[in-house]
Amino acid sequence: MIHALVAGGGIGGLATALALARTGHRVTVLERQDAFTDIGAGIQIAPNGFHALNRLGVGRAVRDRAVLVDELRLMDATTGRELVALPVGGRYRQRFGDPYAVVHRRDLHTPLLTACRAIDAVDLVAGAGVRRYRQDAHRVTATTADGRTFSGDLLVGADGIRSTVRAQLLGDGPPRPCGHTIYRTLVPMERVPRWLRRNAVTLWAGPGWHVVHYPVAGGSCLNLAAVLDDGAAEAVSGRPAERAAVLRRFADPGPVPGALLRLGEDWRRWVLCDRDPVDVWTRGRVTLTGDAAHPMLQYAAQGACQALEDAVVLGDLLADAPTTDVPQRLERYNAARRERTGRVQRLSREMGARLYHPAGEDARARDALLRPLDEDALHHRVAWLHGAPVRADARGGGG
Ligand SMILES: Cc1cc2nc3c(=O)[nH]c(=O)nc-3n(C[C@H](O)[C@H](O)[C@H](O)COP(=O)(O)OP(=O)(O)OC[C@H]3O[C@@H](n4cnc5c(N)ncnc54)[C@H](O)[C@@H]3O)c2cc1C
Repeated sequence: MIHALVAGGGIGGLATALALARTGHRVTVLERQDAFTDIGAGIQIAPNGFHALNRLGVGRAVRDRAVLVDELRLMDATTGRELVALPVGGRYRQRFGDPYAVVHRRDLHTPLLTACRAIDAVDLVAGAGVRRYRQDAHRVTATTADGRTFSGDLLVGADGIRSTVRAQLLGDGPPRPCGHTIYRTLVPMERVPRWLRRNAVTLWAGPGWHVVHYPVAGGSCLNLAAVLDDGAAEAVSGRPAERAAVLRRFADPGPVPGALLRLGEDWRRWVLCDRDPVDVWTRGRVTLTGDAAHPMLQYAAQGACQALEDAVVLGDLLADAPTTDVPQRLERYNAARRERTGRVQRLSREMGARLYHPAGEDARARDALLRPLDEDALHHRVAWLHGAPVRADARGGGG
């Protein structure tokens, strides 16, 4: 039996704990915050995320709290026309084996946490921010900010985009602000006029900005996000933003995005970051997962899904590992995941620039590219991402 330390009790850290504990290992999760919670608003889960959740034994619990949407729509905010709609109902679910769903973040985090709490082999330690680690050929010891030490056979840095474990492992500096400001809010559904309600993820693309909305929390709220390509150079995370300031910044959004934006009251602001993909995020008995390993912009809606895939692959590769084999198994995990996650990181940047924000000639080129795509062609395009099985031997296509 291996004893694993996991730094971070977010979606990636809890999924990793579950994956390892379900194959008989012992896990200590060290979380910096005083409680295991996940704040934030809506999150989209594609079938590849559900494949991973099923493997972790929590697919049904997440599905029960999710809204299964019928389509992903891209609208031209300037003309009000639909540019393309990707149907994610019957045929899509049949082809990819699982639904496309939207949930409140806590409705993904809570089932993972409940499942971890139900397993004796998982020890959840809150208020334990990892500050540094040291390792030798046999053990890893993590030291927390308050000076406690925890030792194990391996350490997984699941401590998010500003990972302390990554800083020590790779020393590659802070992540790169993407130059876009995102405003997010949740609107109670009873305040949303019927004509704005739809069982879909809908994205209104304007020149240098977009607005995206979908129902969450069993349909009781509308998740609303508005993104502006404003060159913002400093990372921001969830700072309150005034309603009037949001409306001012999106001065001429067109009738539907305008009506949506006016619904928002309690806005928060982010300036998101990502990194270029790297090939190596493992050294000896220490590895990374989720945003610590491959932080990506939210435009492909895949960061959490990729973290869930990481967990399953890591669990599979460590399932029967003796402690002496841990370094080799972690290298195999890194090798199995780098191509696919790097591809999704690059795709996420491209989607922002080429699909959601182009103007003028670039927007016309986008429209011409999308126009001929029918349902089959659209499903074919997303198959490598949404339909891939989570497997340790897969590369860019699979997990
Ligand atoms: C606006 C937005 C929209 C998104 N939409 C989607 C979507 O639709 N679909 C999707 O799949 N993904 C989406 N994502 C991405 C997704 O949220 C992340 O990829 C995912 O949360 C990564 O999980 P993680 O566990 O790696 O990191 P995090 O969720 O950041 O969790 C890290 C955890 O580690 C803890 N921690 C930090 N430092 C330490 C330390 N030193 N020691 C111990 N603990 C520490 C933190 O408190 C936290 O609990 C979105 C992201 C954003 C910002």
